[in-house]
Amino acid sequence: MANWSEEEIEAAVDAYQGLFESQAAGEQVVKKHVYKELSLRYGRTVKSYEFRFQNISHVLDTMGLPWVRGLVPASNVGPTATAAIRGVIERKCYFGRHLGEPTADLVLLARRAAALVGRGPKGIPTGDANPKRVAGEVVQFVRSPQVVAWVLEAAAGDCESCSLPAPFIKAGGVPYLEVHHVRWLSQGGSDTVTNAVALCPNCHRRFHHGADAEALAKHIIARVPRLRAE
Ligand SMILES: [Zn+2]
Ligand SMILES: [Zn+2]
Repeated sequence: MANWSEEEIEAAVDAYQGLFESQAAGEQVVKKHVYKELSLRYGRTVKSYEFRFQNISHVLDTMGLPWVRGLVPASNVGPTATAAIRGVIERKCYFGRHLGEPTADLVLLARRAAALVGRGPKGIPTGDANPKRVAGEVVQFVRSPQVVAWVLEAAAGDCESCSLPAPFIKAGGVPYLEVHHVRWLSQGGSDTVTNAVALCPNCHRRFHHGADAEALAKHIIARVPRLRAE
């Protein structure tokens, strides 16, 4: 069987999005009918669409996005198909409304922010002046991936404290910097771009553990115009 064309992948992602919306609206949809329709259009077996839909679930999962219930993520998808599926999802902003949702799950936060860098909504995100606390093993804060993405974009690859370039480029091609809250969230700081900076890992640790931490915080507020002392 021939490789999947861009057009066929797009049709599959479109159909998948249709299923997702129907499910969200509480409608009953027979998945088999959706596969059948695609199978008649592109001459592939019904089963192969079921597998491909599970691949789409997998790609959504790696992007920190929700997938259709019942379509358990299957990771047996090659890099070319992964890129094509991801491309359609990003281009059409499918499921995109979930990307900006604040979360206390740090893994999810990082995934969502990574998906938003360079493609988030334009303008300065409002963030949250009083990020909600959730109880857990340790107290964590529900943080906005939009604020993380915006601050990383503003820093453009250089630490906002020492001005040195990020120490390395991440696997996805993005410079590695960490987003820090000048007034710590645990001290009542806000999760907003006027209280958040992108730092290299050394500076970040120094802001938390350095003997000169307080002076550093004062200095960066004077240095980065968007910051407001809290
Ligand atoms: Zn630095
Ligand atoms: Zn920090």
